[in-house]
Amino acid sequence: DHYQTPDVSKPRYVRVNTLKLDVDSALVELRKQFRVQKDDLVPDLLKLPPKCDLHDHPLVMNGSVFMQGKASSMVAAALDPEPGWEVLDACAAPGNKTVHLAALMRGKGKVIACELNKERIKRLADTVRLSGAHNIEVFHGDFLGLDPEDPLYSKVRAILLDPSCSGSGTVAERLDHLLPSYAAGQAANNGETERINKLASFQKKALEHALSFPKVERIVYSTCSIHQTENEDVVKSVLPFAVSHGFRLATPFPQWHRRGLPVLEGSEHLLRTDPAEDKEGFFIALFIREDESMRSNT
Ligand code: SAM
Repeated sequence: DHYQTPDVSKPRYVRVNTLKLDVDSALVELRKQFRVQKDDLVPDLLKLPPKCDLHDHPLVMNGSVFMQGKASSMVAAALDPEPGWEVLDACAAPGNKTVHLAALMRGKGKVIACELNKERIKRLADTVRLSGAHNIEVFHGDFLGLDPEDPLYSKVRAILLDPSCSGSGTVAERLDHLLPSYAAGQAANNGETERINKLASFQKKALEHALSFPKVERIVYSTCSIHQTENEDVVKSVLPFAVSHGFRLATPFPQWHRRGLPVLEGSEHLLRTDPAEDKEGFFIALFIREDESMRSNT
């Protein structure tokens, strides 16, 4: 089994918030203290040596850079929204990916950040404030309750769906479950299986809902779970619905070698990161509506 205890020898990452600071200035500033390189895959992401402690660094405190892992930073980058678009972040708090979207859009257009949980709305609002973005509208409500036909959403071109998940791909969660079977992606016990099935049923509903918005051209579905049930199985079960609505799977980061488990046709389009090798276990699926796909992301 490939499972290892969390590896402190892995590099650290920070994402430059280009709404506040350009990447070269961030490099100059951080290089006064650390050996910093640009990441070779994700734009605006910087790689630092293991164990660098940045949490009270001035650039972090003032929102010029966000401490965000590589896998997490791949999600909004996979959606790649264009400046000027309207984009919906369906399950937004605490807002790391929301503010990344706003930065990728260079502050132009609109990000609607939907969040159901009242407590987490506060953290979302704090993140938005810290980012300095002026084009994010925070909406407190249920994503499943949004009417795709409502004129309010008639211009939404892209949806980022990062729903509640088991979190089994994150280090903190793995520390609680030092079981090889769990690390291999199997649920540890019956209670856990039931929880994961419930989450998966919500995830499928939410993904189908996202696929129902009339003007949407791109959808990213992501989790920080290692379970097939929440990842490939969700994609597999909504794929016929997606295809009937003109969508197909596209390949985010084609040069990345870890792809989906081969349990559905098109699994090579899906992206996985490994909790041990890549520090966090993430899953990303990118859906593109056909006419759009003529232009990019094939
Ligand atoms: N994308 C966030 C980030 O990168 O900072 C993390 C999102 S977290 C995995 C999932 C969020 O979805 C939680 O804050 C949860 O409260 C919210 N949520 C769960 N069900 C929801 C629903 N039906 N509508 C809107 N938000 C929901």
